[in-house]
Amino acid sequence: MSDGTTPPQNQLFLSYFVGWHARYQGTGAAETLISAAAAFGAGALSLYAPVWSMFPESLPRSVSLASAIAVGTVVFIAAYRTQASKRSRQMATGKLASALLDTNRECMKLLDVNGRMLRISEYGATLMDAPSPLELAGADWLSFWKGADSVAARAAFDDVLAGRDASFRALCHTTTGRPKWWDSRLTPVRDSGGKVVAVVCASSDVTDETELLTQLQAKNALMSEMEAHMPIVFYSYSANFDYFHYITAGCTKVFGLEPADFVKDPSAWMKLVVDDDLEPVLAEMNRIVRESTDGRAQYRIRKADGSLRWLRSTGYPVSDESGRVLRIVGITEDITAEQERIMALDRLAYTDSLTGLANRAALLREIEERCTAGKPFGLMFVDLDRFKVLNDTLGHVAADHLLQSVGCVIRKALPCDAFVARLGGDEFAVLIGSVPDKAGLGRLAGSLLADLSRSHLEQRVGVFTTASIGISQFPDHGANPETLLSSADVAMYAAKKAGRNSFQFAGKEAAATIDDFELERDLPEALVSSQFLLHFQTIHEPATLAVCGVEALIRWRHPTRGLIPPGVFIPILEETGFIADVGVWVLDSALSQLAAWRRAGATGLCMSVNVSARQLADDVIVREVERALKQYGVPADQLEIELTETALMQNASEAQKTINALKRLGVRIAIDDFGTGYSSLMYLADFAPETLKIDRHFTSKIAHDAATQTIVEGIIGLSRKLGIKVVAEGVEAQEQLDILRQVQCDYVQGYLLSRPQPPEALTDAISSGEASERETSRSTSNVS
Ligand code: C2E
Ligand code: MG
Ligand code: MG
Repeated sequence: MSDGTTPPQNQLFLSYFVGWHARYQGTGAAETLISAAAAFGAGALSLYAPVWSMFPESLPRSVSLASAIAVGTVVFIAAYRTQASKRSRQMATGKLASALLDTNRECMKLLDVNGRMLRISEYGATLMDAPSPLELAGADWLSFWKGADSVAARAAFDDVLAGRDASFRALCHTTTGRPKWWDSRLTPVRDSGGKVVAVVCASSDVTDETELLTQLQAKNALMSEMEAHMPIVFYSYSANFDYFHYITAGCTKVFGLEPADFVKDPSAWMKLVVDDDLEPVLAEMNRIVRESTDGRAQYRIRKADGSLRWLRSTGYPVSDESGRVLRIVGITEDITAEQERIMALDRLAYTDSLTGLANRAALLREIEERCTAGKPFGLMFVDLDRFKVLNDTLGHVAADHLLQSVGCVIRKALPCDAFVARLGGDEFAVLIGSVPDKAGLGRLAGSLLADLSRSHLEQRVGVFTTASIGISQFPDHGANPETLLSSADVAMYAAKKAGRNSFQFAGKEAAATIDDFELERDLPEALVSSQFLLHFQTIHEPATLAVCGVEALIRWRHPTRGLIPPGVFIPILEETGFIADVGVWVLDSALSQLAAWRRAGATGLCMSVNVSARQLADDVIVREVERALKQYGVPADQLEIELTETALMQNASEAQKTINALKRLGVRIAIDDFGTGYSSLMYLADFAPETLKIDRHFTSKIAHDAATQTIVEGIIGLSRKLGIKVVAEGVEAQEQLDILRQVQCDYVQGYLLSRPQPPEALTDAISSGEASERETSRSTSNVS
């Protein structure tokens, strides 16, 4: 740098170079001639003048002139030699300067004080897209800059003229119009007196660098913008979690903490993590370092403003060559919105819309989790009894209310930590962790049943609701949701079979009823593919044993299990509601068979058809009976409808209406299995049946038990007074028949006389003239 008073060596060199340049460009032969003439003149004058002044007359004029010429010549030679050696030094220096300029990899320019280019280096010309330096000789350097860049160039140039080094970065176009960025440094060139006589300008082409820088700046700006707006943090965390090498500005948005907070206290963020989530997060971080594998943790933080946010952090270990993890780099993002959406969907997907309880999927998930946790728990499978009947009779709206209130009753009856779910229909399930032992679960189930049956008083629908409960326990009855549920389901079914309104624990006993589930599954198919059939059992007049009637008894020829008796599947038909359709089928088949027998001559034969309680709930049976009687041309009094005591008990007023309607059709009514239920003699008055069928349990004891015989005698006597005929069922022994004859029982039925058989096996016995005659007397004599 120049201090302004003593120009440094390169400055002097450049001043000299400028002088040389000026001379070199403007002198030549003429200058040599003039200097020769001057030398010559000076030489002659210097020799001739002193001699001539001292001796003006002493020397002849010719001698004086010759002497002057000689001296002049000597002086000229001396002057010429001095001049020549100076010129060759200047040329060498000039060439060196030129070489220095041209070998420089910058755009070197020598400018005069007006900004004109005296010289541009060859490489500089190339950078300026000029064919040769000469192209730019004399060009106005200042005019290359435009706009703000021109102001910067001017300022730098003024500075350098004032003797100060200057520099600036600006854009100017090359001679071909290509825009280029230049880093220009300007240095003043001074003469020996310190005056600025020229300017050296060195410009580096920084176009690539500037563009890169611009791109980088744009990227940085974009990154900052993204960081500022997106709930995302990029970080590099030391492997011992002692410090953050780097954390992006997004931490302000995500954690509500500044990057500086992380630097000051690298565990600052941990203090925000909710208690339950901290341990798993730390465990995952340690695992990433220990196992040197990627990892991810999802956790909640409570920000300083009190808001709860969900975050997801993904970490990747960075290791040295030896495999030691040095740091975790990763990303933490705020996933609250996503999480809330998932939770909303989750709520929808795992909630039963009718009751607001958990649904089946939620229950399965909960069981799975509890199994994984390994702590014992109980699973109760709660199924309402005869819900199908209620659903059909109450209507769907009332049934929905019923289910909702059942959900509430279950909730209230069980400990508050119980997980209550509705599986669909009338099925509920409950998980109980706080009372996992058998005795405790039994007590809870008992009180739940009591609460449910009491609850009808509070319900507007006023329906008497009971339930059956199956209970399985983890791990005793299974270690996965499927097994535990099916064990509880089987136990529930066993409870239903045991008489409903009760509970049953899973186990071998309950497992035996699993077959019933299969049957239930196969039922819909059974009706469409004609798997049901009827067997018929004859009813006899005791004295002559003439056939007076037949009872139609349904059978199911199951494709894999063979012939199944009605006791096995009738309860399932009732429970599932299929009994209505199957009942119609039985009626049709029985009356069509009776019509066939009547055509064969048995015109007085009476057909008994069993009807379930479920069928008495509405008047469908009345319409179907009327239709079938017409369809098969059977007199109404030759059809007897058998109803069990239990069927009459259920919804007695509804049953009474249906029975009255049937009676109006002229159809006979029989009370079946008399003696097994409440055996209320009131039924005899209320329902005024034509027939009463004494249950086979009485018949089996009649021969050995005097009391039973007395009861039977009493029933027969009472019935006779009421005009009711009595049939004794289950007559298996001659002894029993003899007693029944003795006590004047009206009719007998039992294996002793005939087993239930397919219709073709009975055709001969039935179509005999004797039977038909006697039968006529049975059906008519009763209509008194
Ligand atoms: P139920 O109406 O009391 O029918 C008499 C049952 O006693 C029949 O059993 C019959 O096979 C059986 N039985 C007859 N004589 C004897 C005997 O001497 N000893 C013994 N041990 N049993 C005898 P089944 O066919 O198994 O029917 C059982 C019950 O199923 C019937 O009792 C009836 O309540 C019901 N049922 C049968 N068919 C139908 C039907 O089509 N509809 C409805 N709703 N129920 C039916
Ligand atoms: Mg019967
Ligand atoms: Mg019976």
